[in-house]
Amino acid sequence: MNAPHDWPAALAPRWRQDTLQHGLGPAFHTALPGQALPDVHWVARSDALAAELGLAGWLAGDEALAVLSGNAAPSHGTPLATVYSGHQFGVWAGQLGDGRALLLGEIDSDAGPMEIQIKGGGLTPYSRMGDGRAVLRSSIREFLCSEAMHHLGIPTTRALAVIGSPAPVRRETVETAAVVTRVAPSFLRFGHFEHFTHTAQDPLALQRLVNAVIERYFPDCTDAAHPVLAWLEVVARRTARLMADWQAVGFCHGVMNTDNMSILGLTIDYGPFGFLDAFDPGHVCNHSDHQGRYAYARQPSIGFWNLHALAHALAPLVEDPQALRDAIEPYKDEYAQAIQQRLRAKLGLRESRDGDTELIDTLLRQMAAERTDYTIAMRRLCDFVSAPGAPNTTARDLFIDRAAFDVWATRYRERLAAEASVDTERQIRMRAVNPKYILRNHLAEQAIRTAREGDFAPTQRLLQVLEHPFDEQPGQDEYAALPPDWAQHLEISCSS
Ligand code: AMP
Ligand code: MG
Repeated sequence: MNAPHDWPAALAPRWRQDTLQHGLGPAFHTALPGQALPDVHWVARSDALAAELGLAGWLAGDEALAVLSGNAAPSHGTPLATVYSGHQFGVWAGQLGDGRALLLGEIDSDAGPMEIQIKGGGLTPYSRMGDGRAVLRSSIREFLCSEAMHHLGIPTTRALAVIGSPAPVRRETVETAAVVTRVAPSFLRFGHFEHFTHTAQDPLALQRLVNAVIERYFPDCTDAAHPVLAWLEVVARRTARLMADWQAVGFCHGVMNTDNMSILGLTIDYGPFGFLDAFDPGHVCNHSDHQGRYAYARQPSIGFWNLHALAHALAPLVEDPQALRDAIEPYKDEYAQAIQQRLRAKLGLRESRDGDTELIDTLLRQMAAERTDYTIAMRRLCDFVSAPGAPNTTARDLFIDRAAFDVWATRYRERLAAEASVDTERQIRMRAVNPKYILRNHLAEQAIRTAREGDFAPTQRLLQVLEHPFDEQPGQDEYAALPPDWAQHLEISCSS
């Protein structure tokens, strides 16, 4: 048991232990302290998030290191591990839960109340076969990608810090332990709701959870004729927009199990994720996903599958099962509209016109056939000059079949002319939605390799670049380059 820790007076009034989860009863969680790790040290911190939370000063000190590593228990109450269940790879997996995550409390920020959770803080009653720990490798990946996604404008849990320890942790090889501090309005997953229907079979607990969630996070739904259905539809639409965000930027989550689906429509649980390098609709980023269930192109339909599981879990609260199916049905239109809108924006098209889908698909088909680098191609198209005869070599040179590109470019030029597009103005709009800098696997890998040797500066430098993904950053072109040959052989496994 860790010694209780006194919170600094300046922080105490702002840091509360009355999260939605704390307010629910013991059926929903277990209160317990973290398990101490030896010789903890800072690996990385997000100054931007610290400032948003008003924690910049505190985060510089030893007390933050003790609390956020799980080594010191807050004196205002004990952290919580919450219970959930879920479907993993399409199969019911039964009870899961926070096997290595602890909810410390809540803090006010400009974006509203934020929960603070640490991941890797030790065993919980939900650890099952696991050790309650996270390794440095996966913690750096989660930290960097959470912040990268936020700065790309994609809803996500955030990451405040990574703390390292020399404590050995066994994965495929022996690695070292780390703890990530995660920040989000809520860490509730679809699986929290599935738990009370299928595992605990406790409709009263389900009702309490749903009521609390609607009241706190979806207050607009309370006035609806059927608040549960209204809320489910909002979740469906948010999930659809999140899937469109992922597809448009080329993000593959890798483990879209229902226990990894946020009820707020946030990207959550960064494990074997990856951004597309070459455009490949069948790309599977998770080395352990042998069936390709979570391949890039399948993510939108998996999002809908997961909503079915959520709707099914709500059956005890809704008499008519058809009403539940109807509530998630808008997912399809919402996704279709959202992805078209994002892809049009990526090509700088303001209006929606007949033939746009075909224009976009033709480009993506050529990219898929040639395995063109998705991010670089889209970014180079930002420089497209629409004057007849303009060579547009920066984009054109990326393609193998230049004649096919030329045919497409002529159509694109005509399409731009149809909405009287002004090049300079369009180019600015396109650069604001086509990132130059994304967290490619090899960039994360380079940061991890140096961090393992005790040099954390490259991780912090990479974070700084990823905080401005749409800006031209002089001197940082190496972060925007094609992946090196060695990166083709990087295998990202589920183990974290
Ligand atoms: P994931 O596939 O990472 O979303 O994890 C699925 C479930 O396994 C969740 O309940 C996690 O809390 C749990 N889990 C994953 N890794 C560990 C670990 N090292 N120790 C304890 N529980 C874990
Ligand atoms: Mg998970």
